[in-house]
Amino acid sequence: MKGCIFCQIVAGEIPAAKLYEDDRFIVFRDINPLYRVHLLIVPKRHISSVNEVDDAGNEVLHGIFGVARRMAEKEGVSESGYRLVVNAGKDAGQVVMHVHLHLLAGEPLRPL
Ligand code: 5GP
Ligand code: ZN
Repeated sequence: MKGCIFCQIVAGEIPAAKLYEDDRFIVFRDINPLYRVHLLIVPKRHISSVNEVDDAGNEVLHGIFGVARRMAEKEGVSESGYRLVVNAGKDAGQVVMHVHLHLLAGEPLRPL
């Protein structure tokens, strides 16, 4: 998607601290981490928001929790714990309109 910063990262047009990549997902560190571990798990196919997830979108996102689990293991936080967050829309504070999962960990997180 033209002008989408995460599509540009997927295309290698913008650098990112990439930790993992397969044919469907890319994982990199958030540029402005809110926690000691703050990763973004991003499907390579562009979907702007959870609001846009149809059957095809479900296919695109299939397996994303498995990637999250493996990243938590890689970062050594499986046992200490982690939080997975998806923001959708203005009130949730979504700023990048390309669906992504935040993986937050490395310190105690305030209860929701
Ligand atoms: P959202 O609020 O849309 O769920 O979160 C977007 C996240 O992407 C923010 O935490 C922000 O710091 C991060 N982000 C925005 N632009 C970039 C970038 O160019 N590179 C990386 N690594 N993270 C970004
Ligand atoms: Zn995109």
